[in-house]
Amino acid sequence: MSEAIRIDGKAFADKLRARIAAQVKELKSLHGLTPGLAVVIVGDDPASHVHVRSKHKSTLEAGMKSFEHQLPAETSQKELLTLIDGLNNDPAVHGILVQLPLPKQINAQAVLAKINPDKDVDGFHVINAGRLATGMPGLVPCTPLGCLMLIEDVLGKGNLVGKHAVVIGRSNIVGKPMAQLLLHADCTVTITHLLTQHLDEECRRADILVVAAGHAHLVQGDWIKPGAVVIDVGINRIAAAEAGGKDRLVGDVDYAAAVQVAGAITPVPGGVGPMTIACLLANTVTAACALNDVEVPNV
Ligand code: NAD
Repeated sequence: MSEAIRIDGKAFADKLRARIAAQVKELKSLHGLTPGLAVVIVGDDPASHVHVRSKHKSTLEAGMKSFEHQLPAETSQKELLTLIDGLNNDPAVHGILVQLPLPKQINAQAVLAKINPDKDVDGFHVINAGRLATGMPGLVPCTPLGCLMLIEDVLGKGNLVGKHAVVIGRSNIVGKPMAQLLLHADCTVTITHLLTQHLDEECRRADILVVAAGHAHLVQGDWIKPGAVVIDVGINRIAAAEAGGKDRLVGDVDYAAAVQVAGAITPVPGGVGPMTIACLLANTVTAACALNDVEVPNV
C-alpha cells in the first residue's frame, strides 16, 4: 500500500489567512467595517505571551485591528470582569479572547461567561456550546473548526456523510465540539476518552480518526483502518535528553507507523496547529459581520 497523503495544515492555513485578508479588505471598502480582535492576558506565563504575540501579529497581517490588554498577575477577578464589560460594549471590538490559563484568584468559568457570546471568538461560552449542540449558527472553537476544514478538504465537502468518525478526547475545547461538528456533517460518531475500554478496537472502525488526548504516540499504526483520514491534534514536548539533542514536538499518533496505513494524515508540527490561529481570524470576521448584520464576503 502506498504512503498516506500528508495533510499540509500550514499551506491550508496560509491560504485561509489570505482569503480572510481579502474579506477584510472587502468589508472595509463595502461597509467601512474593520474587524477588531481584543486579546486579554493576565500574568507573565511565557508560553501564553508567545501565543498572544503570534495572535497579535496574525491579526494585523490580516488587516484587522488588534487590541492587546496585558494585566499584572495580581489582577482581581472584578477588575478583569470590568475590562470585559468595556470590551463587550466597545463597537470597534468584534472578538474577545481571554488567554488561558488565568491566575488562581480568577475563576475562568466566570470570566468566559462574562464575554458577550456574539464576541466569543474562542467559542467557549456555554451559549455557543449550546448553539453548536443544537445546530444553531454561532461561534465554534477554533481547533475543531480547523480540523473539520482539513477533513472536508481531503475527503471533499459532502463526502463525510455516513462515515464512521472516532474522536479520542472529550474536552470542551477540542473533543466535544469536534464530535458535534462531525455529527452535523452526518458522520456516525464515537467519542472515546481515558476510561474507554478497547480503544484500539474503537479506532480500527474509524474512517475518520481525530486524536486529542495529549498523550505522545498513543495511537499505533495497527490501530488505524487502512485508508482512514487521521487528524492528530496532540502537542507533546519530548525533552532534549529523550529526543537526542533538542526538544521535539510530537503528536498523539505514531506518525511513522500510521503514515504506512492511513489514507491521509496530519503531521505534528505543521498539521492542525497552524489552523487554530487562522480559524480565530475567521471567527473574528464571522463575528464582525454578524454584529453588523452584513454577509461574510464571498471572496
Ligand atoms: P484535555 O487534557 O482537556 O483533554 C484530553 C482528553 O483526552 C480527555 O477527555 C481525556 O479523557 C482524553 N485522554 C487522555 N489520555 C487518554 C488516553 N490515554 N486514552 C484515551 N483518551 C485519553 O486536553 P485538550 O485541551 O482537549 O487537548 C488535547 C491535546 O491537543 C493536547 O495535547 C493539547 O496540547 C492539544 N491541543 C492542540 C491544539 C492545536 O492548536 N493544535 C489546540 C488545543 C489542544
